[in-house]
Amino acid sequence: MSMIEFQNVEKYYGKFHALKNINLNFEKGEVVVVIGPSGSGKSTMLRCINGLESISSGHLLINDQDLYSKNIKLTEIRKNIGMVFQHFNLYPNKTVLENITLAPIKVLKQNEQDAIALAERLLDRVGMLDKKDSYPSMLSGGQQQRVAIARGLAMQPQMLLFDEPTSALDPEMIGDVLNVMKKIAKDGMSMIVVTHEMGFAKEVADRVVFMADGEVVEESRDVENFFNN
Ligand code: ADP
Ligand code: ADP
Repeated sequence: MSMIEFQNVEKYYGKFHALKNINLNFEKGEVVVVIGPSGSGKSTMLRCINGLESISSGHLLINDQDLYSKNIKLTEIRKNIGMVFQHFNLYPNKTVLENITLAPIKVLKQNEQDAIALAERLLDRVGMLDKKDSYPSMLSGGQQQRVAIARGLAMQPQMLLFDEPTSALDPEMIGDVLNVMKKIAKDGMSMIVVTHEMGFAKEVADRVVFMADGEVVEESRDVENFFNN
């Protein structure tokens, strides 16, 4: 059973045809890297999966449940599918620790002590424990992104989506963030990663999906060869 299944999915923004007959499966434990030119629909595809955008036609199944024909609550989906954005999107008026514990306490109803213990463990994992009482504005972009990843993991999602997580970072910060993503992948997290980082794709991806002009143009499990050709 696929965790995510696109069946003949079309997406229009007004008259603009952003996704064209997408048929794709994403399996549990898989790391899929999505590449393609700017404007090819990569971000739209991710945003459809976690309900930030709705599809125009076709079916999008999450754990065999149709995202649109049944009464699935978006909050339920977002509990299971985390997202890391290009621009981090941390809450500016909350500390690093509070950024991470907020949703587990509110949405998962974790008690505060458990949420803090988990947040500290995750911050340690991403190398940010010493900044737990800082505010986002005091951190570099790379540090903020590592916090954002810890925040995504704190919901203990089934899958984590990454939308160009290193594109807004200064070059010297990119390696730290990619290393954290590699660790998470090795832990077995299911991931879909939109990125231009070919080194990451070669090293970590089980599969590459190449999009252009709203279509999936190519798909390959032979990632090494894909980039050599
Ligand atoms: P990518 O992630 O590959 O750069 P996007 O999915 O962000 O591509 O965008 C695909 C196309 O859809 C682009 O031409 C973009 O301008 C357009 N688009 C994205 N979001 C919207 C929106 N909310 N309204 C109208 N057009 C949009
Ligand atoms: P990011 O690069 O951080 O993903 P974008 O600049 O691609 O952000 O898009 C930011 C927001 O603007 C998104 O919500 C996207 O859907 C929307 N957007 C992108 N392109 C268009 C467009 N052509 N018309 C209207 N909204 C758009």
